[in-house]
Amino acid sequence: MLFVTYPQLSLYIDGEFIQGGGRKEQDILNPATNEVIGKLPHATKEDLDRALAAAARAFESWKKSSPMERSKILRKVAELSRERAKDIGRGITMDQGKPLAESTGEVVACSEHAEWHAEECRRIYGRVIPSRNDAVRQTVLREPVGVVAAFSPWNFPFNQAIRKISAAVGAGCTIILKGPEDAPSAVVAIARLFHDAGLPKGVLNIVWGVPAEVSDHLIASPVVRKITFTGSTAVGKMLAAKAASLMKRSTMELGGHAPVIVCDDADVELAIKLMVPYKFRNAGQVCVSPTRFYVQEGVYDRFVAGFVEKTQALRVGDGLTEGTQMGPLAQARRVGAVAGFIDDARERGASVLVGGAPIPGSGNFFAPTVIADLPDNARLLNEEPFGPVAGMIRFKTVDEVLQRANSLPYGLASYAFTGSNRNAHALSTGLAAGMVSINHLGLALAETPFGGINDSGMGSEGGIETFDGYLNTKFVTQMN
Ligand code: NAD
Repeated sequence: MLFVTYPQLSLYIDGEFIQGGGRKEQDILNPATNEVIGKLPHATKEDLDRALAAAARAFESWKKSSPMERSKILRKVAELSRERAKDIGRGITMDQGKPLAESTGEVVACSEHAEWHAEECRRIYGRVIPSRNDAVRQTVLREPVGVVAAFSPWNFPFNQAIRKISAAVGAGCTIILKGPEDAPSAVVAIARLFHDAGLPKGVLNIVWGVPAEVSDHLIASPVVRKITFTGSTAVGKMLAAKAASLMKRSTMELGGHAPVIVCDDADVELAIKLMVPYKFRNAGQVCVSPTRFYVQEGVYDRFVAGFVEKTQALRVGDGLTEGTQMGPLAQARRVGAVAGFIDDARERGASVLVGGAPIPGSGNFFAPTVIADLPDNARLLNEEPFGPVAGMIRFKTVDEVLQRANSLPYGLASYAFTGSNRNAHALSTGLAAGMVSINHLGLALAETPFGGINDSGMGSEGGIETFDGYLNTKFVTQMN
C-alpha cells in the first residue's frame, strides 16, 4: 500500500488561501479506515460576505475580459491538472475512497473540461437579425449572468467542481463554490490550479461549512444571480425553489435511477463485460450508475450468471492498495443507507445472488451485490440506491420494458444492448431520459451535453450547451 500525506485544506477567498484564525474545523476521515486525516476550516459569516464582495468586485472587470484571456487561463489549468493528477488523485482516494486508478483517471479525464471550455468560450457568439428598416441594426448579445453560487458533491469531487468553475469562468462570470465537506482535497487543489494559472483574484472563491447555512446565505444575497447544484433530488428541489422565489437562474444535476435494457438479440458477453465494472465503479456512488437491469427472458439466465460471476471476482479494498477494483463507501452513513435497500428487498422475497452485506472491519466497505426476483414496489427499484447494488428484472417485450423503465420520476441516464436497429430506434426514442447510451459506454465527455429531465434536474453541463445557463440574452436595436 502507498503511504502518502494528505494535503493542507483551506478556504480560498479573493485570491488568498485561508485557514486557522480560530475558525471552526471539521475532521476529515479516510473512509477506508475511518481515521482522521485532515482538518477543514469552515467559513464564518464574515468569510462568506468577503467572498460575495470579492466576486461582485471581480465581476466588474472579468465580464469585460477577452475570451482569449479566459481561454489562455483555462488551457493552463488543463495543463497543470495533468501534471498534478497523481497528487490530486491520492488526495481523492484518501478522503473519498475510490481506487487510485479511478481518482487519477478522474483528474486526467476532467482536465478536458477545462480545455473544452477554453475552446468554446471563444465561440460565445451573438447574432444579427435582419431588420424591417434599412436604418436599423438589430443584434443579439450574450452576456455573463454575474456572480454564481455553486454546490458540488463528494462522489466525483474533481469532475463536478471543475465543470462548474470552467463554465462560469469561461462565460465571464465569477463564482463562489461550496465543495463537498466530506471529500474536500480535490476542490482545494482546483483553487490552486486556477490561482497558479493566473486567474485574477476574486473570480473564483471556495468556501466550506454547514451546507444549508452556506447555501441559505449565498442564495439570499442580491449579489448572486445564478445557482448551480449537483447532488440529491431532495436538496436540488429545495435549492431550486429558493432560487426561483428570488428569480435567480439555476442548473440542477440531480439523482438518477438508470435502467439497462438487454434484449434477446444483444451481444450478451459485451453487455456483461462493460456493465460489471461500470456498475461497481466508485462503489456505485454515481448519478448515472446502472441500477435496474431489465433483461429479456431469452438471455436472462445467461446474463445474470455471467454478471454474478464477474461481480464475485471483484477485489474490494483500500483504494491505495494496488489491484483494488472497488473501494469503501464514501461515508459511514452510506453503509446503513445501502443495507436498508437490501433488507427491504429480502423482506419482499427477493433473492440476493451475491454480496448483500457490509464487509466487517474499520472502513465503510460494502460487498458488491446482485439481487434478483424483485417485486416492482421494492425500494431498490424506486429510490436511488447510490451504492454497489444491481437489481435484475426479467422482461418479455420492448413495449413492456419501455413502460417499466419510464415508470420512475427520474430521467438521467439509460443504457441498452441490442443487435437490431429497430430495437435501438425504439429505445433511443422511447426512453424518457436526458442521455441514452446504446451498445457501448459513451456518457460524460467534455464535448457532449450531460444532464437529466424530470426529477433528475434541469440544464446541461458540457457540450455546446454548457454556457447556456451562464449567459443572459440581450437584444439591441439601433437606428443610425
Ligand atoms: P444529501 O442529500 O444530504 O446531500 C447531497 C449533496 O448535497 C451533498 O454534497 C451535500 O453536501 C449537499 N447538500 C445537502 N444539503 C444542502 C444544502 N441545504 N445546501 C447545499 N448543499 C447541500 O445526501 P448524501 O448522504 O450526502 O448523499 C447521498 C445522496 O445524494 C444520494 O442518494 C444521491 O442521490 C445524492 N448525490 C447525488 C450526486 C449526483 O452526482 N447527482 C452526487 C452526490 C450525492
